[in-house]
Amino acid sequence: MNRRKVSKTTCVETKLAQSLHFFDKKSGGIIPSLDLSTTFKRNNQYEAFDKFIYSREGNQTTSEAEKIVQCLDGSEDALLFSSGMSALTTLLDTLQTGNHIIIQNSIYYAIANYFDEICSRRGIELSKVCVTDLYQVDKYIKSGKTKLIWIETPSNPYWINVDISKISEISSTFDCKLIVDATCSPGCTTQPLTLGADICFQSTTKYLNGHSDALGGALSTNKKDEFWKKIIISRNYNGSVMNPLNAWLLIRGLKTLFIRFKKSSESAMKLAKHLTCNSNVKKVLYPGLKSHPTFTIAEKQMRNGYGGMLSILLHGDVRKVQSVVKNTKVFIPATSLGSVESLIEHRKVVEGPDSTVDDTLIRLSIGLEDIDDLILDLDQALYC
Ligand code: PLP
Repeated sequence: MNRRKVSKTTCVETKLAQSLHFFDKKSGGIIPSLDLSTTFKRNNQYEAFDKFIYSREGNQTTSEAEKIVQCLDGSEDALLFSSGMSALTTLLDTLQTGNHIIIQNSIYYAIANYFDEICSRRGIELSKVCVTDLYQVDKYIKSGKTKLIWIETPSNPYWINVDISKISEISSTFDCKLIVDATCSPGCTTQPLTLGADICFQSTTKYLNGHSDALGGALSTNKKDEFWKKIIISRNYNGSVMNPLNAWLLIRGLKTLFIRFKKSSESAMKLAKHLTCNSNVKKVLYPGLKSHPTFTIAEKQMRNGYGGMLSILLHGDVRKVQSVVKNTKVFIPATSLGSVESLIEHRKVVEGPDSTVDDTLIRLSIGLEDIDDLILDLDQALYC
């Protein structure tokens, strides 16, 4: 690929805005090309023409997107997957019967449910631990048996920040990988690998893509070791690689990640402060508010904005919550997060009947609309 050298000292924001100079080789177009081929012609020696043979094992566009994610995360290597969940399922292929894993007790519900399902099916011991209490992590970890600790920071939907470096001090003394789901605090604000994590997980469907038009997942590693090789093999076999079109859309989204995250964070902070004065609101949960129980960790770890995610607990009952989510005109009643459009959801309904989330919790994802439009919209819905 025709690549001009980008200086090592250039800021990550600059590198992302210019897609690491992955220019189109033939035309000189400044947007990376989209290569949809599933298979690649061999050369006269019957070897791979360039790097690729068959696109289930990788392709040019996805590989360029991976290099950009690697740059964002400051990692040794990065892999892209067809969704966040497929990144998780591929990673868990590496575990064996008899292994033990620790997961944070309050995380994105589909991941928690999947851990339950796969662990019981495969004979893996699972401990759900309050990881903000380091004593608990220390108590549950088992030498030689615990292979993985999974944390999410800030975590859905209460936005609890977990101290990555403190947990890594514990995990690194064992043969145990610390995996951080940083979907809601991407590389523009938190660097899990620099803080001691082994692998950074992200649903690229959210902030990294940012335009609600392409599912995806990413894993970034600080070491290309045996564990990482097993993940690559597993992705090759089960075909969970990200398709080129989604990778191309991801490259487009990553160009504006820093500025989108900054604007969403500023708007979310304004809205969070505004909502603390609303008599219909019992509690505002935003990682950047001093009143949030894990604010001091967020302050230390989220260096460039607290993100666009917040939740509110309402006074009243479920009917009040339903009325609010039905009466917004600017906020769109839909699930997901981290995109240009602001979304509102009654979390318990989205998670389903087994959800343990508070009945009156409303989750908000703040996008790029004018903040006064968002404030007015929520105010009128809260007073309907
Ligand atoms: N992790 C978090 C924190 C999420 O919010 C989600 C999806 O909402 C996922 C992982 C799963 O990602 P995907 O929907 O891309 O499979």
